Amino acid sequence: MSAHGVPLCINDLWRAAAARLDSAGVDAPTNTARLLLAHVLGKSKAWVAAHGSDVLSPQQAQALREFDRLLNRLIAREPLFYVLGEREFYGLSMRVTPDVLIPRPETEMLVELSLDTLKGLSPLPSPAVVDIGTGSGAVAIAIAYNQPQAHVIATDVSLPALRVAQENAVRHQVQDRVQFVQMDLLSAFSTLPLVITANLPYVAREEIDALPPEIRCYEPRVALDGGYDGMELIRRLLKQVTDLLARCNCSRHGCHIFLEIGASQGSAVLHAAQRMLPQAHISVTKDLNGLDRVLCVQIRHNHECPASCA
Ligand code: GLN
Repeated sequence: MSAHGVPLCINDLWRAAAARLDSAGVDAPTNTARLLLAHVLGKSKAWVAAHGSDVLSPQQAQALREFDRLLNRLIAREPLFYVLGEREFYGLSMRVTPDVLIPRPETEMLVELSLDTLKGLSPLPSPAVVDIGTGSGAVAIAIAYNQPQAHVIATDVSLPALRVAQENAVRHQVQDRVQFVQMDLLSAFSTLPLVITANLPYVAREEIDALPPEIRCYEPRVALDGGYDGMELIRRLLKQVTDLLARCNCSRHGCHIFLEIGASQGSAVLHAAQRMLPQAHISVTKDLNGLDRVLCVQIRHNHECPASCA
């Protein structure tokens, strides 16, 4: 009910909420307000857009207290997807909590590139993919979901993150093909898998404080902090790859590595990888916004590798 006793319609509700979000400095206030209203009413965003002049039923009006509560969390700059408790990734709804980084649309490129690599290869080695720093499990789960032959090992240093990832694997019924292991990068592996994916932390430490409060105050620092220049973990992973390569290169399909990088890191990461892996084919792929986003490293099968390795 408005202050004048006139029943509020859907449009009034999200417009008032959008104005409050806007003055709190929240990004995309209109879209966010509509999404939140849709969430508490158990409807889609399209429904909210199509029913703008509807007045809430008494039953729907009960959701308004929850709407207000969640709105206040957004005004405190908590990320929308923690407030909603889920985020869609590669068409799959992933549960997200403050223990995991919220999956970003650009990270879907890791899934796309991996699925392209696996396509047509049969039989797939097991594991077909190792996803490092899996967080919510989004990349590992999306690959397993879309490639039913693939077994995936997903690692993270954070046990609370792995619990969320495990829950997401069950949610999408791939728990038999995705194995979660607490591990620092590739440290417990003795051979190179066919595909490695990783969205490692890559924000330069001193740039973290300049990020919006939603990221800097709520998302796990361990998932963002990439050391002094943002590339410390990426270099450490590439070093582990060179060490494994010195021992053997096991898959007869070689090894394909897809690492998400920051938009300004393309040439630095490319040169570091070329220096460390001179025998590999290395490139940087751009995202849909035209920004450098994925370092792709392709290592061919070593034909001198002992037969027991092939
Ligand atoms: N994409 C995140 C950001 O927007 C960074 C994620 C990461 O460090 N891997 O800041």
